[in-house]
Amino acid sequence: MTHTHAVVLGGSMAGLLTARVLTEHFERVTIVERDSPTGGWTGDPHADPREREVRRGVPQGRHAHGLLAAGLNVIERLFPGATRELATAGMPTGDVLGNVRFCANGYRLKQVPAGMDAVSFSRPYLETWIRSKVFALPGVAVRGGHDIVGIEADAARTRVIGARIQAAGEPAETLTADLVVDATGKGSRAPRWLAELGYERPREERLQVDLAYVSRPYRVDPALLDGDIAIIIGPSVAAPRGGAVMLQEGGRAVITLFGILGDHSPLDDAGYRAYAKRLPLPYVSDIIEASEPLAAGAVKYRFPGSTRHRYDRLRRFPRGFVVLGDAMCSFNPMYGQGMSVAGIEALKLGSLLERGELDALRFFREVKPVVDIPWQIATGGDAALPGVQGGPKDIGTRMVNRYLNRLYAAAEHDEVVSLAFSRVTNLLDPPTALMRPRIARRVLGRRRLAAA
Ligand SMILES: Cc1cc2nc3c(=O)[nH]c(=O)nc-3n(C[C@H](O)[C@H](O)[C@H](O)COP(=O)(O)OP(=O)(O)OC[C@H]3O[C@@H](n4cnc5c(N)ncnc54)[C@H](O)[C@@H]3O)c2cc1C
Repeated sequence: MTHTHAVVLGGSMAGLLTARVLTEHFERVTIVERDSPTGGWTGDPHADPREREVRRGVPQGRHAHGLLAAGLNVIERLFPGATRELATAGMPTGDVLGNVRFCANGYRLKQVPAGMDAVSFSRPYLETWIRSKVFALPGVAVRGGHDIVGIEADAARTRVIGARIQAAGEPAETLTADLVVDATGKGSRAPRWLAELGYERPREERLQVDLAYVSRPYRVDPALLDGDIAIIIGPSVAAPRGGAVMLQEGGRAVITLFGILGDHSPLDDAGYRAYAKRLPLPYVSDIIEASEPLAAGAVKYRFPGSTRHRYDRLRRFPRGFVVLGDAMCSFNPMYGQGMSVAGIEALKLGSLLERGELDALRFFREVKPVVDIPWQIATGGDAALPGVQGGPKDIGTRMVNRYLNRLYAAAEHDEVVSLAFSRVTNLLDPPTALMRPRIARRVLGRRRLAAA
């Protein structure tokens, strides 16, 4: 323990996981969050989902959220025994490949046990569970109901020394800190704050997809899923829309339908069901037709596109300040990466502090490869979909996407290929693992080609 006080701006997944890491390095950690610290899901897995309150600051909480194996590893590392505890609390659990039905470009990938756990949950439940663990740690304080107004720098403007926060109707106050972490999500004002202090703003990279998630809660008989805890149908080139059924606590499920470039599911019952019938494979629609909806209609979340702020490219940055989570990079949610990447970033920050360093530029450089891979997966995948403008469209990416289409076809029957692909999408192996000769032989040796 070398430092006194850290302030974490934003109390969502990135903020909570970071706060947990910082308790190992700071005597006190204060989390500042606009929402009430007690608002949201009560933590009772049997409560009626219609009574759950999704926090205002995290509207995506109504929609399907999956945790990749890499993310569950982080959570296990920070909260040992988490998987068992979540299972005991009623979260559906299984194997990350054996019990998760994943379909890509119209192919259902072969399911075999990968030997790695998967847990399914509602997003508010997971967040509340983590929050209860973090809030109980010694040295952690929470300032709920406070808006973050800005950051405070020293006279030379070389070091951030605190954050200005304000509760409704109250005067603003400054929390002084050795480290301020911005985990306020994709609406982060850090680029503006930097400019106000005389620093360059990070360059922004975007890939527009005009995605919408349209979700509805259901009561689902788990037997309908044949032992699976989740079904994910990714978009195919022929039909760039998808869907997911995620079993949750209390015998419920959230069913999300998603489409890009304005091809969004209607919210009313008939339109929603008709849209589901036009997904590349029937599994999601079959569950919808056999299950009881727990809401009259569906709710929508629009996601314009993935956005990455290139903090790693800056040459000057004030000490005592870092940015992470969606505030640094927000990924197309279809790839289920945001929470896992935020967790890995929090661990990276911890290992930097372990070495006695608080240099933000070094943090951004060390985190760059952590972000590069999911960014490449998400933008490379999106760029392959018809009509998506921009993104990596070079010959290399086109060849990779062509190769991937053959790989999906192979993975339908070949468990070695399916397992290799699953390890990549779960952020356990880099995408280059799919090009290794052992896998390439199995992919390219097949005569059957993908339609695309
Ligand atoms: C529809 C959808 C589905 C998704 N599905 C998945 C999935 O399956 N798997 C996955 O891993 N990820 C998924 N994600 C991404 C995931 O939700 C985020 O990556 C994750 O929540 C981490 O984000 P964060 O904590 O950085 O920011 P956020 O979750 O956006 O949280 C930011 C927090 O900061 C607070 N805040 C913001 N501004 C202020 C301010 N000025 N003052 C005070 N407080 C403030 C907010 O209230 C909020 O609590 C999905 C996202 C969306 C939109």
